[in-house]
This record gives sequence, C-alpha cells and structure tokens, in this order.
Amino acid sequence: MTAAPQSLATAHEALLSDRAAGIKQSAVRDVFELSLDPSLVSLAGGNPFLQLLPLEKIAQLTSRIITEQGPEALQYGSGLGTAELREQIIEVMAAEGITNVTVDDVVVTNGSQSAQDMACKVFCNPGDTVLCEDPTYVGALNTFEAYQVAARPVGTDDNGLIPDALRERIRELRAAGEHIKFLYTIPNFNNPSGITLAAERRQEIVEICREEGILILEDNPYGMLRYEGQAAPTLRSLDPENVIYMGSFSKIFAPGLRIGWAAVPTHLFRRFYLAGEAVALCPPTLNQMIISAYLNEHDWKGQITKYNDLYRSRRDAMLQALAQYLPAEVSYTRPEGGFFIWLTLPQGIDTYELLQQGVKAGVIFIPGAAFSPSGQADNKLRLAFCSVDEATIAEGVQRLSGLLSSAIEA
Ligand code: PMP
Repeated sequence: MTAAPQSLATAHEALLSDRAAGIKQSAVRDVFELSLDPSLVSLAGGNPFLQLLPLEKIAQLTSRIITEQGPEALQYGSGLGTAELREQIIEVMAAEGITNVTVDDVVVTNGSQSAQDMACKVFCNPGDTVLCEDPTYVGALNTFEAYQVAARPVGTDDNGLIPDALRERIRELRAAGEHIKFLYTIPNFNNPSGITLAAERRQEIVEICREEGILILEDNPYGMLRYEGQAAPTLRSLDPENVIYMGSFSKIFAPGLRIGWAAVPTHLFRRFYLAGEAVALCPPTLNQMIISAYLNEHDWKGQITKYNDLYRSRRDAMLQALAQYLPAEVSYTRPEGGFFIWLTLPQGIDTYELLQQGVKAGVIFIPGAAFSPSGQADNKLRLAFCSVDEATIAEGVQRLSGLLSSAIEA
C-alpha cells in the first residue's frame, strides 16, 4: 500500500465528519493484538470457548446447505432475516422464559452490536442523552460516541441499577435541559462488571422508564450462561411495549457468524428494521441457515449446559485464585454467570500503567477506564475467565497478584 501524499492526507482530514472524531478503536481490540502472544496469560478476551462446539457436525451441515440450497444460501435475503430463523428465535427466547413475543416482533441483525447501532440511528440526534450503567459495555459506549450522544451513568451497587438513583438522575438531567432517549442496560452478568440486576428491582426500573417516557434497550447476550441462582424475568417480559430486547447467537453459538436479533415493540418495528436495511440490506443468509440447521439438528440446549459446566468451573477457579492470591486491598465481584469479574484497586493505581507491567510479567487484562462513562474507573480492571483453562487462570491471577502487591506497596 502506498501512503497518500501529506497534502492529500491533510485535505481528507478536513473532509472528516464530526462523528468520525468520536469513533475509536476499543480498548478491548487494543489488548486483543497483545493476546496473540502465546507466552502471555490472557485474562483479557471475552471470547467464547468454541473448541467445545461440534465442529465436524457444523462442517457437514454447512456443506449440505451449500450443496442442496446453494443459490438461495448465497443470495440476498429479507431485511427481517429468514422466516425459519425468526421462528426459532421465538423458541430461544422461550428457553429464557420470554413468552410474550411473536415472529412479527423479531428482526435478525448482524450481531447485537448492529442492533445498538440501529437503535441510535432511529432514536438519537447529536447532543441527545442515553442512560447506562457504570461500567458498561465498551462497544455500546463507542456507538454512542459515534452518534454524538452523551452516555450518562446511573448509580449501581452489587444488585445492579438502583431505582431511586435512576429517578434522581432523570430529574437532574432534565433540569439541566438534557433530552433523554433511552436507558441502555445489561441486566444479566454485565460486561464488564459481572453484576446482575436483582429480580425485585426489575419491575420498578421498568415502571420508572415507562412513567418518564424513556425507552429501555435491554442487552442480554449472556442471559443463558448462568452458573448458579435463579434467573430473574427479563425487562422485555415485564414491559414488551417499552423495551427493545437485544439477543445474540455470539455467546450461545458462534460470534463469527455475526447473527443477533432484536425484539421490538410493534409500533416501532418498521422504523427499526428499515434502519438496519439501510446499512446492511440484510443479515447474512448462509449464516442464518447454518444457525437454523444447528438449532434443528443439534441439542443446542444441552450444548449450553455443557458450556455452563465449563464456564462455572473456570469462574470458580478464578474466584478461588483471587481469594488465595490477591492482596486484601483489592475487591472484586462474584458473578453468577457470564464471562467477567471486575476488580477495584486502591485509588491512585492506574490500570493502564499496570497493563504495561502486566505485559512484562506475562499477564494481560482490560484496564477499566474504557468501560466507564464517568471516566472514574482508572483503578479498576476486567478479568475474563471464559477462554482459558483452570490452571492457566490460576497462573494468570498469581502473576497479576504479584504485580498488584508491588503496586500497592509502592
Ligand atoms: N453486548 C454486550 C454486553 C457484549 O458483551 C457484546 C459482545 N462482547 C455485544 C453486545 C456484542 O455482541 P454481538 O457479537 O452479538 O454483536
């Protein structure tokens, strides 16, 4: 590739949209490059452990789809997604206890990431406000920035969003003239905190948003990856008319297929899926057909049980190692599911700097700042237990604990 002459690069710089300035590489992606070094223990990546999938079976069904339905599988499809997959998504949602949804509510998307983008496209003007947890998913924060939307954190504790804090925040922001469009929330096993919104708070959160005329965007890619405890009702089950629910096959099957979905209130449905069509025309047909065949021909619920057994054991290994090795000054969350544990270090320790030392000491993680809409997570970090085995987790936590002890003593 030849570099553009400096004058052209400068001229193009002047053409950039205001929006482009807000589009950044996520910190998770930065660390992803590092995680390819095999000498490092990576507790950074939230990649599902796909080695557990029935790969031979998936190879066969993919080959069969091409042989038997090639022209259709490789053709453009409906912007809504295939009829078969939309029907099956109803069953997947039922497995999570969501029964008040019909095929007409469901649009297939290019991962739930694109559903977030569609929501911003439909609802947000530059300068609008959305509410979210602190910390929250870095990919959503990046989308908000790209749409020039202010992400305002709402107070949380170990049981997730605090209803009174939500009320107070809405009052305060409106008094300051802000225009709040929706609450973006990850009620189950938040990425990065691992925290789950308590069952008894859910009805109240839903009621507050409805009373205040604020839509809810419920992002639930990890809901079925529960290792203990009782599942709480989804917000979508509690208020189907005021919640856009975003689901994904990324964590229960394969993220590389880039297939997720949104269940959208009837009166918003057309606007929502047209926003998706304007970007991608349609979700990938072949990938939808692979997922349909997988759901039809494989015991996908049994597969999730297998995953849950594996991830539970890895979570337990991480919790045990944290209890054994971490200095007492460091606190951490105890997730009932999902992929992540969130560590809080004493104030003054910067986890970006710690990561540089981690690279030398052979362990990597994601510094907390990237996940924080308030910018107050410099002393926090995210660990993922999903993609490495128990012994490696213990080794990684031990290396990290050594670094933390030195940082605390310094
Ligand atoms: N939401 C959350 C909370 C996530 O953690 C992720 C992926 N890490 C996504 C959305 C994006 O998922 P998808 O692969 O379906 O786009």
